[in-house]
Amino acid sequence: MQKELAELLFPNIMKTPEDYEAMYPERNLEKGAIVTRFAPSPTGFVHMGSLYQAFIASKMARQTNGVFYLRIEDTDQKREVENGITGIINDLKSFDFKIDEGPLQGGVYGPYIQSERVEIYQTYVKDLIKRGLAYPCFCTEKELAELRNRQEREKVRIGYYGMYAMNRNLTFDEIKAKLDAGLPYVIRLKSPGDFHKTINFHDCIKGNISFPENDMDIILLKQDGVPTYHFAHAIDDHLMRTTHVIRGDEWVSSVPVHLQLFEVLGFTPPKYAHIAPLTKREGTSVRKLSKRKDPDASIRFYHEKGIPHDAVKLFLATLANANFEMWYNQNKDKTLDDFAFQFQKMPVGGTYFDLEKLNSVSRIYFSMLKANNLYDGTLTYYQEYDQDFAQIIEKNKEKTIALLNIEREVKRPRKDLASYSDVKHEFENFYDEIFLNKDPESAYSGLENDKNYDVSLVEQYLNIYQDTDSKEEWMERLKGLAQDNGYAREVKQYKENPEEYKGHVGDVCETIRACVTGKKMSPDLYEILKILGKESLAKRIDHFKKYLED
Ligand code: GLU
Repeated sequence: MQKELAELLFPNIMKTPEDYEAMYPERNLEKGAIVTRFAPSPTGFVHMGSLYQAFIASKMARQTNGVFYLRIEDTDQKREVENGITGIINDLKSFDFKIDEGPLQGGVYGPYIQSERVEIYQTYVKDLIKRGLAYPCFCTEKELAELRNRQEREKVRIGYYGMYAMNRNLTFDEIKAKLDAGLPYVIRLKSPGDFHKTINFHDCIKGNISFPENDMDIILLKQDGVPTYHFAHAIDDHLMRTTHVIRGDEWVSSVPVHLQLFEVLGFTPPKYAHIAPLTKREGTSVRKLSKRKDPDASIRFYHEKGIPHDAVKLFLATLANANFEMWYNQNKDKTLDDFAFQFQKMPVGGTYFDLEKLNSVSRIYFSMLKANNLYDGTLTYYQEYDQDFAQIIEKNKEKTIALLNIEREVKRPRKDLASYSDVKHEFENFYDEIFLNKDPESAYSGLENDKNYDVSLVEQYLNIYQDTDSKEEWMERLKGLAQDNGYAREVKQYKENPEEYKGHVGDVCETIRACVTGKKMSPDLYEILKILGKESLAKRIDHFKKYLED
């Protein structure tokens, strides 16, 4: 009778599970290779939370010579948007995640879009029905609501299970009559589980976990014949030969359902690794990173700020394995690919998504870029976000590279940039066409209205400026200038007898720095002066005077 029922419900399904088993054989990979996937709905973009999951999954696959594939889970039509798949693929590509198989790449375990796999799901459902492990359920919304009310009244667990599973034991004739009447139905699992028994499993990240067995007759196929997440997960991850299901930990409580599905389907279950969510602090409470509330949850945010994707990935790496950061600081010449991530070291609870931390990681990243590469990235960024500035740096290419190269490619490089958007802020004053066109107050706003400078020091310096000076010669010149003006040649000298001097050579430097950069702090002054040259210095002195006179 079950066989008859299966035929009645799925007359067009001709294949059998064996056919698919043969079509999608075990993968021939080296021992320990992780086959895993990123399985988003086609929402058109990837946000930080799912990017973090994709990062971990792709990394685990890559470092074990495994496979990282993309599967589009579009069984929930409500979440679908136009270009939903290409948007996701573009986002992943922009982060340089190599997708081994997927909707665009293809692959022998496809199709990789769930809506194109309906025949596969139905084949397995047909087989479950044949084996008496699934059945059609005609319950209406109203009946299910009534069941719920009854269970609430009786103070029992809510759900479609055991004695409450009203359609579990319909006879063939009853089913046939309902079908003939054209009633809509879903297909449910006839759960063999016992809620009073415990199921134990090992999560690669969270360790050993126990739950009651599942006894809910969960829905396998919805009324439109499309599978639920649970059923599609079991079928797809089995047939795509996933070794590790790496996903968000909102799914951890579904594992009993999933293991039961693997069991009734006769599949070996994969290993599970449930990733703790990225979180934000809001006042005293902690909440999940939110697409709606947090601008920094979107990839666009990083693009607009000019935080390169490689820096974002380094940041995600520090979140994924806390020991990564120390390793990276000690091995600055190495890349992410050289670090082996471990599930056991991944956080088991909410992971604080801290932009301060991102900035500090990004500073290290920027400090290690070669000036040429930094120039290229900077130009690309400003071509998109500030064409005027892009034109200026393009016109002054050599100068810009020289400026960007100050205190770079040395043992302890400067860490003044956390993003491309910082470049303008840090460097714009070095271009005469910007600095001299600002009104003096705003050009020198970095001095915070401090007008206590002796501009004659800079004027005298202009007279003795030599662009061929070595750093030592330059310093000697400044010391002489200091001495001639009643400042100590050395700081030490000044500290011993402060009353004898107006200040020390450092103060002379600060005066020149203020005049030239409009700021109290700057990269190496000797280098700056060399790059700006005498002519620019002269113009800046006039500008400085106007600021001081005001
Ligand atoms: N489509 C599911 C989600 O977006 C995927 C979960 C999984 O990786 O299995 O949450």
